[in-house]
Amino acid sequence: MFHDTASVLFGVEGLQVTDAESGAGGTLEVWAVTDHAAASACPDCGTVSGRVHEQVLTRPRDVARGLDAVQVWWVKRRWKCEAGECERKTFTEWVPQVPPRCRLTGRLREQAAAEIAERGITPAEAARGNGMSWPVAHGAFAARADPLLEQSPEPVAHLGIDEHRRGRPRWRIDEDTGEYVLLADRWHTCFFDLSGGQGLLGQVEGRTADDAAYWLALATPAWRDAVRVVAIDMCTIYASAVRRMLPGAQLVADLFHVVHLAVKMTGDVRRRVVRGKYGRRGRTGDPEYGIKGLLVRNLEHLSPGQFAKVMAALGSDPAGQEIAAAWIGKEKLRDVLNLRARVTGSVPCERDVRGRLFAFYDWCAQNDDIPELLSLARTVSRWEDEIVAAVLTGVTNAVSESLNRLAKLEARMAYGFRNPASQRRRVRTACTRGSRRRSRHVTKKRTRSVTRRQHDPG
Ligand SMILES: [Zn+2]
Repeated sequence: MFHDTASVLFGVEGLQVTDAESGAGGTLEVWAVTDHAAASACPDCGTVSGRVHEQVLTRPRDVARGLDAVQVWWVKRRWKCEAGECERKTFTEWVPQVPPRCRLTGRLREQAAAEIAERGITPAEAARGNGMSWPVAHGAFAARADPLLEQSPEPVAHLGIDEHRRGRPRWRIDEDTGEYVLLADRWHTCFFDLSGGQGLLGQVEGRTADDAAYWLALATPAWRDAVRVVAIDMCTIYASAVRRMLPGAQLVADLFHVVHLAVKMTGDVRRRVVRGKYGRRGRTGDPEYGIKGLLVRNLEHLSPGQFAKVMAALGSDPAGQEIAAAWIGKEKLRDVLNLRARVTGSVPCERDVRGRLFAFYDWCAQNDDIPELLSLARTVSRWEDEIVAAVLTGVTNAVSESLNRLAKLEARMAYGFRNPASQRRRVRTACTRGSRRRSRHVTKKRTRSVTRRQHDPG
């Protein structure tokens, strides 16, 4: 209920601006009085009072105007409650933006909360920028974030499960043996929406099968039935949790980790062979050392010159041939993964995938004198069905790895978290920001078209 331009510009419901002037240091001083119908009603009995007890001057903190701070001087009345049986003798006026006992306007709190939730700054920074204390800024953020995070997630067709280290592991020196003993190694198990845009669906403390199963058990049976594919790293713990809680879902192994294992195997063979050949670790000048960067690259990304360099370095002696065998093994495994639709443009058939896997196993069997290659083949055969399913469905855990990066960024900006609940809230807010932004965009579009129709004179 605004009466004048100044009050409309000031924009606090129930406050009428009586004066405004520029103060020291560019501060805008705003003087206001109450103009709110309910302000003279007793908060206890609801009787509208007609007797002013005294006038008080308060200075609620408010949002800045551009770069200038705003200082509000609010002349409040203290009323006397006129109902005879009421316990309360007097009460002061209040407006929705500044409830009783509040010294900040609601919009200042909302601004701080939005900065933390949507711009990703820390509560400490938001508190500094808005002239409030850390607990107030954090409380405002929690009040904004919690209702959103507590909503149960929409059904998910492709679910990703990944672990995320929560802070550094803590060690202690054992006084008797003098050895380091692990005190705490803190982890979160995280659940991701790989097919939709919901980002991080939830986290639980710990990384055992029971921890993962606990989160899945909290979901409704209908939600669990909707999950068709679950992507995990090659980790038996999560596999057992998924088999227990989501028996109908197809498990797939994340292909990035499969390639990672193969690349690591190539490096292990190269380091072992070089040590055997020279009796020391590799160094600049060794032909094997010069191509170590090329060996980890994808074969199809090598230029003809680089390929010739690898062949020249490895073709000369038996040690080089052993490295070459490991390298070819890696590429044979990648041949299997390259059948996925994202690379070829067409959905592969299972027989082709298993055929190429057989070629990989065959190569490993021919080179059974390389222990690293055999151990890779054993791991792959243990996860064979999950790897084949990953190639056929094309589902990867890439989304969860990218959101893990966001989670780490949050932890760094906060200089570590002491409180796991607060870490979960901040990380989940960061990892669902994109989906919130998208959904807001959709609703905004809809309201705009409705408004236009209303204003159309024809
Ligand atoms: Zn009263």
